[in-house]
Amino acid sequence: MNHPALSPGRHQADGYDALMRRIAQRADSAETDPAGLAPEMDALRQAGLLTACLPTSEGGQGLGLGADTARVAFDLLRRLGRANLSVARLFEGHMNAVKLLHLYGTPGLRQHVGQAVRNGALLGVWGADGTHPLRCFGVGGRLWLEGEKIFASGLGLVRLAVVTLRADDADDGLSRLALVDVSDPARQDLSSWRASGMRATASGCFAFTGLELDPGHIVGRPGDYTREPFFEGGIWRYCAAHLGGAEALVDLWRDALAARGRLDDPMQLGRYARAVGLCHAMASLLRETGHTVEAAAEDRDSIDAAVAGALLARQFVEESCVEILQLAEKSLGTAAHISGTSIERIRRDLSMFLRQAAPDAKLLQAGRLLAGAGGGGPPW
Ligand SMILES: Cc1cc2nc3c(=O)[nH]c(=O)nc-3n(C[C@H](O)[C@H](O)[C@H](O)COP(=O)(O)OP(=O)(O)OC[C@H]3O[C@@H](n4cnc5c(N)ncnc54)[C@H](O)[C@@H]3O)c2cc1C
Repeated sequence: MNHPALSPGRHQADGYDALMRRIAQRADSAETDPAGLAPEMDALRQAGLLTACLPTSEGGQGLGLGADTARVAFDLLRRLGRANLSVARLFEGHMNAVKLLHLYGTPGLRQHVGQAVRNGALLGVWGADGTHPLRCFGVGGRLWLEGEKIFASGLGLVRLAVVTLRADDADDGLSRLALVDVSDPARQDLSSWRASGMRATASGCFAFTGLELDPGHIVGRPGDYTREPFFEGGIWRYCAAHLGGAEALVDLWRDALAARGRLDDPMQLGRYARAVGLCHAMASLLRETGHTVEAAAEDRDSIDAAVAGALLARQFVEESCVEILQLAEKSLGTAAHISGTSIERIRRDLSMFLRQAAPDAKLLQAGRLLAGAGGGGPPW
């Protein structure tokens, strides 16, 4: 199937309107419905979007795999974020997992994953370690896993996860990647998932201890996970989802003011215009950043500049979204805090989803990359 959003010559916004509406309509109830995001994942599957992330050699359309599809991937992640940030979180994880396997997996593993995705599997990337980091060790010529992953998004929905782990017999300090079947419900623990936002992502703990690791499911070489421009550079994808969430909030805020006859007030108009301006700026920056990062894979000399650009874009998106959240709260007053409303859910989801790992370190890294480029101005 050729997807409307991926067809040459068609505008990226074409298609998927009904899908996005369906996802948005269920976004409030999905966080408390025991079915969680299963209906949304089915809808993405039926729309062919899980398969579209595969390379063309595996029957996909390379969505998110390179510069040629970066713009379409950006549009889709933004639209999904606008419909439901939790759905965007899971879809971004799937896209990232397929990409890591495409970049670093053996041909046999890529075929295995291609078959699984064509059969409907949702993938994820689980990198976050808690007090029992995931490791592997060998006994009697076989490999075993021990430890757990926290913030494991999509528990009960993700069938195969690309996980980071340490190898006991290596002292290089480098992270390895492996593909593991994570469908066993007995190993999934949602009791620790008590976050106020992004509840629907079902991001709990997964216990790996006692699972055997097929050596053929080790992905790439030590250190591949953090290889640039894909590691820090790839943050443009979740930023696209953040942007979509901010846009949804701005739309709802405008409609709520209009319904109360308050939209023509100069103070309200000023805040609204500022928020729309920030959304425009984020969109322009991220569209460019996504393409630059993906294109840098073809040009080793441009990797540092692309990664610095992605890190700075993340900083700008975080600060812009925080400002939009504050502006919405000022404009709506207590109405922004009424539980059971979409505005309140999106506020919770966006402010939680913005909290990604080690943001201070990311800004520092951008500074180091820029300083290392010799100063005198940005290297792009
Ligand atoms: C909804 C959601 C879903 C997620 N899903 C996944 C998933 O599927 N897979 C996955 O791998 N991860 C996932 N994550 C986790 C994500 O990768 C991060 O691990 C997580 O967001 C870290 O957030 P944090 O605020 O605890 O970060 P922290 O890194 O603890 O940052 C909090 C603050 O502490 C500062 N800080 C960090 N380190 C230090 C230090 N050493 N000393 C001093 N200050 C420090 C930071 O700069 C920041 O100011 C998810 C996160 C969210 C919110």
